[in-house]
Amino acid sequence: MQTIEDLHLALEKNDIPASIDAHLGFHRLFYDLSGHGVLQSLWNGWETKLRLYLSLDHRTYSDPHDLAVEHEKLAAVALEGDIDEFRQELACHFQSALRARTEDQGKRRPRRA
Ligand SMILES: [Zn+2]
Repeated sequence: MQTIEDLHLALEKNDIPASIDAHLGFHRLFYDLSGHGVLQSLWNGWETKLRLYLSLDHRTYSDPHDLAVEHEKLAAVALEGDIDEFRQELACHFQSALRARTEDQGKRRPRRA
């Protein structure tokens, strides 16, 4: 998947803006592929806020490649078409991101996703 390759490359070069672009590109893909104007405009409304959030969040990964691996898993499950498993993976992806922010503000702890 092109966006995941971009993510790997950007992370290798430690290029945070490019990695954020690739990360957002990955999630945007789902809205674009839905073919629904309403979903696409929802995403357009979120993208700027998410970009801001990720500009802080992308620095909290102990190993940035975990981020790419996480998205490879998401893509694999999505392509398999197992909705329940996809929902679980996605919930994991967002929950761990939010947990890292709320549980220990101030002391940044390495985390998986
Ligand atoms: Zn993501």
